[in-house]
Amino acid sequence: MFGVPLNDSHEDPLDELINTILSQSTTNINSHRAFASLKQRFPDWEQARRAHTDSIASVIKAGGLANVKSVVIKNVLDEIKKRRGNFDLSFLKTAPIAEAREFLLSLKGVGPKTAACVLLFTCKRPVFPMDTHIFRIFRRVGLLPDKISDQLAHQKIENLLPPKKHYSLHINLITLGRRICHPKNPKCGQCPLSDHCDFGQSQL
Ligand code: SF4
Repeated sequence: MFGVPLNDSHEDPLDELINTILSQSTTNINSHRAFASLKQRFPDWEQARRAHTDSIASVIKAGGLANVKSVVIKNVLDEIKKRRGNFDLSFLKTAPIAEAREFLLSLKGVGPKTAACVLLFTCKRPVFPMDTHIFRIFRRVGLLPDKISDQLAHQKIENLLPPKKHYSLHINLITLGRRICHPKNPKCGQCPLSDHCDFGQSQL
């Protein structure tokens, strides 16, 4: 129904990490605006790392929660510099997935979804970020229980996915959530998953 989207990202992994932190609890437009302002004000990440959190907060305010996100960004930059000696995260493209994920999750303020976004989008690893649309759909379909931790849910779904479907499924489920499987009044009659969906079957 939605085609098969291809991942043609050439983004730097650290740029993607900061971008994903900025995208929390806001729209894509606002987070992209905040990221552009941040890059304009601090053209290299060392400058941002050395800046005061207030200076970072003032340039990312378009993305919302600027005071919280500025602390997370500064801490992430500090930690990466301390542990790696530079800001090159390209090792995440080839390190064992568990190790790559563990590195990202060990950064304060980086959760399972953010880690998975970096690994899937820019490192092109077979991992599966889950946002609120994807959680809702998997719960309705019957693949996830109502109560499950973020980390366990990511693991459980990742174990079910066939190879090379992670990116297209991620993008298409978000599209499904936005267009058809709405939080209220999902359009189950138009949904390509209805034959396989517990909630959909109860509605039809
Ligand atoms: S059948 Fe309905 S509840 Fe199930 S995934 Fe589709 S729209 Fe959502």
